[in-house]
Order: sequence, then structure tokens, then C-alpha cells
Amino acid sequence: MFPVTSGVFPCVAVPGFYAGAMSSAYRELLDATIHHLEILRDQGHRFISVSSEALAALESSAPRAASSRRVPAVSQPTPASGLADKPHPVGVAPPAPRPQEPTGTADDVLVGSPLSAAEKEAAMAALRAQVLPCVKCVHLARSRRNVVFGAGTVHSPLLFVGEAPGADEDVQGEPFVGKAGQLLTKIIQTMGLDRDRVYIANILKCRPDTPGQTAGNRKPTPVEMTTCLPYLLGQIRIIQPKVIVALGATAVEGLFGKCDGITRLRGTWLNFRGVPVMPTYHPAYLLRNQALLEKRRVWEDMLQVMERLGMPISERQRGFFLKATGS
Ligand code: SF4
Repeated sequence: MFPVTSGVFPCVAVPGFYAGAMSSAYRELLDATIHHLEILRDQGHRFISVSSEALAALESSAPRAASSRRVPAVSQPTPASGLADKPHPVGVAPPAPRPQEPTGTADDVLVGSPLSAAEKEAAMAALRAQVLPCVKCVHLARSRRNVVFGAGTVHSPLLFVGEAPGADEDVQGEPFVGKAGQLLTKIIQTMGLDRDRVYIANILKCRPDTPGQTAGNRKPTPVEMTTCLPYLLGQIRIIQPKVIVALGATAVEGLFGKCDGITRLRGTWLNFRGVPVMPTYHPAYLLRNQALLEKRRVWEDMLQVMERLGMPISERQRGFFLKATGS
């Protein structure tokens, strides 16, 4: 939680620090500040003290933040340095990808001008400090054991988004650590990566409560997803991913407000405010449905992601599950 230091909330001073170099981060931190103040208000605080330096920093930063709205949408895929600068399995160069181009406009793009590694790390640490004490969903704050903020590296061009923490994630405070998470880890490794070379987050940062139930999970409600979404948006602004993989219908619904059937959508590039999104099945679905054909479908989605990121793909990788499905 942001501490109250000498009557001054440090978070108020933060935006001025970042704004000169990255106005998208300025907007994200401004959102964070507003959310933090809302929490304080809900806790009964009526007044806060703000230093004159912090106010001056805010005033001087605002105009530059506004100018950052003209950011080009993501266009042609280029090798993603965060992945390409580490060794990959020896493979055959993939054919030139022809993904559906995003259709984001200057007004709705989410990702701003490039951030340095240090800026990303500082901004993510600030966002994490804001999210961990969040009590916006009072019922979830009461029932959770941990806020599951996200895991991985902020420098990855690849972001996996799931729906919400389950029981295992709630206990460990990390996303995708249960059985479905282990399968996701396998998929990531089959792509030639490791969990710590991508970023994994959920639409909802707290486990949906299940009053009266001793086991099982429930889907987040639209209100819960809408309430928590600003935190994921903040993570996307900071990470600036080249590709988002939406794991399951709820993740798609959380991002886009609806999902017209994951079976129909999966394997088709979508555009989330300028960032290409590949919808695919949630790993939990693959655990319930062990058909090799379904595994092949998810794998084909991941092949598209790898092509989009300019990752090398071996013939062996291209052929996974093909023989088993008779294709
Ligand atoms: S789900 Fe998100 S918005 Fe709701 S209490 Fe948890 S962190 Fe806060």
C-alpha cells in the first residue's frame, strides 16, 4: 500500500517523474493515483496533504501526457527482441506471416511511446504496490488469501491473459500454478520459451469467492471484470506487448466486453486497442477434453503467435499432433 509519509502521499508525486519520457505511463499512473484516492475515500479519509512540488510536477506534466494520444497502431510484425535475443531451438525460418492487421485508431490505442527497461520496471512496481491492497471488490477482498497480480518479465513481447485466480493461485499468489497452469507452462516451453520470459496475468486479480462451496471456481461477474480491468490495462501499457494471447472465452469477454463463442473466435487475430490478440482455448478446457484435435488447434494458434513474433519454428514444432490427428 502507498504509505502516508509526513502527510504526503508519494503516489501523487510519481506522475511528474515519468511524464517527461512516457505520457502513456503518465496516464496509467494518473489512473493509479485516482484509484488509490478512491480507496482512501472509501476508507473514510476526507483530506490529504500534497506538497507544492508534487502539484507543480503534475501541472507541468499534463500537456505532454495529452500529446501522446497519437500513437501508431501495431503494424507489421518484427522479431521481438525480448524473445529473439535468447537462444531458440534450431529450426526452419517460418514463412512470412500475413496476420490480420489491427484496426485500432489513434484515439483508442493503448500502448504509447517505447519505455526503457528501467521505466517499465519502475512503473510495474508502482502498479503492483497499488493493486496488492486493493479492496474495490469488498467481497473478494474479504475472501481472498492473496492478490494475484501477475508474473513474468515486463520486457516480454508476449502477454498471456487468463480469467481469474483459482484456489491454487489464491494460495500461492501467482497466476497459472494449478493443473491448468502446469499445462500452460508446457505450452510455453513447447514454444521454446520459459515462464519467466513471458508475462502472465489475469483479467481479475482476486479469486472469485464461492460462498457455501468447499471446492470449485466460478466465473467472474461482468461487474468484477470491469472493476479490475484498469489494472490489466495498466500492465499492458507498461509491458507494451506485441501479442496478447487470450486464454478462454472469459478472457476474451474481459478484454472486449463480450465473446461470440471461443470455438468460432480462436485462431483469428483480434485487435485490442492496437495490440494483436490471439484467442485460444483455456488450458483447463484441454484438461477436460483430451482430444488431440483440440490440442492441435491450440498449438496452431501458438504457431501463429510465434510467426507474428518472428520466432524460429522447427519442422518438428510445426508437426506436433499432426500425425495423431491424421492431418
Ligand atoms: S478483483 Fe481487482 S478490483 Fe477487485 S478487489 Fe481484487 S484487485 Fe481490486
